[in-house]
Amino acid sequence: MGKSVTCPTCGKSVAWTPESRWRPFCSERCRLIDLGAWLGEEHRIAGPSDEGLAWPLPDQDPEAPSH
Ligand SMILES: [Zn+2]
Repeated sequence: MGKSVTCPTCGKSVAWTPESRWRPFCSERCRLIDLGAWLGEEHRIAGPSDEGLAWPLPDQDPEAPSH
């Protein structure tokens, strides 16, 4: 009864239990970071741009390109 996984975002060990609600991520933050990266990929496919910065979290994106 000691199963654990590695957080895909930060590499931290995460206990695979009902208490670890964000598993396989260690936290909501890491989950959102991973989701943001995924959405960033989708965005580049849909509308390429030359922005080289890390994609911000979905709920914190006031400067999203509008075109
Ligand atoms: Zn993490």
